[in-house]
Amino acid sequence: MAHAVTLIPGDGIGPEIVAAARRVVDASGAEIEWRTVEAGEAVMESEGTPLPERVLDSIRETGVALKGPITTPVGSGFRSVNVALRKQLDLYVNLRPALSIPGVRSRYEDIDLVVVRENTEDLYAGVEHMVGEDAAESIKIITRKASERVVRFACEYARREGRRKVTAVHKANILKYSDGLFLETARQVAAEYDDVEFEDRIVDNMCMQLVQKPELYDVLVLPNLYGDIVSDLCAGLVGGLGVAPGANIGDQMAVFEPVHGSAPKYAGQDKADPTATILSATLMLRHLGEGEAADRVTAAVRQVIGAGEHVTYDLGGDAGTAEMADAIIAAMQ
Ligand code: NAD
Repeated sequence: MAHAVTLIPGDGIGPEIVAAARRVVDASGAEIEWRTVEAGEAVMESEGTPLPERVLDSIRETGVALKGPITTPVGSGFRSVNVALRKQLDLYVNLRPALSIPGVRSRYEDIDLVVVRENTEDLYAGVEHMVGEDAAESIKIITRKASERVVRFACEYARREGRRKVTAVHKANILKYSDGLFLETARQVAAEYDDVEFEDRIVDNMCMQLVQKPELYDVLVLPNLYGDIVSDLCAGLVGGLGVAPGANIGDQMAVFEPVHGSAPKYAGQDKADPTATILSATLMLRHLGEGEAADRVTAAVRQVIGAGEHVTYDLGGDAGTAEMADAIIAAMQ
């Protein structure tokens, strides 16, 4: 039976790369019934909100979405649709695998890391205010519940995917209460998984170690802010944003999307690299139990990038988005 999936094209380069990913998934052997819904700038004027309730309802119904990037106006205008989606659907894990792809220019080879970032609290809870005119406070919120479920996800993921180790990342030496609670909770949860090795690192040391000895690490689990920063560091280790996939996962639903944004300067030019969105779609296929289709797509992406002929500008080629997708589809056949 076909899997129903909500498809959100997004804006900027979103519609082009999502169309490319959709064609690749359709050629992978998995049967998907796509339900397209618009969000972001495109519906802001007509519906008065960038995130209409029908978008959320569609994801609640299907449980799974593939999403293009959505522009967030700077300073004024609407708040981030991306953050609102994660909050409203309680997608508490941001999963970002960083895997080297031969042919992608990078300073490193053989990187294989998975970042599990807490997605709902920490300094992103949005509790901020001015104190008088010359000071501001942003409150960092860490709870046992959110720490527990994200660390449990990391341990379950490690077990399921046959990974060897989970490293909890924190600054508990300085932030004794908030990060102290995260670390204490992480240790308690990890103790239930005697088949998964567990350790912890202080975040500044972690950054240096990832640059110097990335091969020592495997699955990293972090509170929201460190997770945001360290996951971009890891994307940099494998060649940058154009090839970095991501997923936002909760107990009931999951939204798969590239790590990068809507790159408005390339919108409508058939120039953007579809790889990150296609690899996000492979995470989605695995989530749907379509592991073989995911493997076929991943192998084809690696083959096309390795050959270097039909790749986009950021990968050193001059192919367009659609041409690269065509090459990936041809490689699968
Ligand atoms: P961005 O990721 O859109 O682009 C930064 C640069 O990276 C681009 O100028 C381009 O050179 C390169 N790039 C990104 N994706 C690429 C691709 N697929 N192929 C080739 N090159 C690519 O970051 P930004 O410029 O900071 O953000 C633009 C908009 O996207 C903002 O409104 C931001 O809020 C939004 N955004 C959305 C999401 C999301 O939807 N989840 C995530 C990040 C940023």
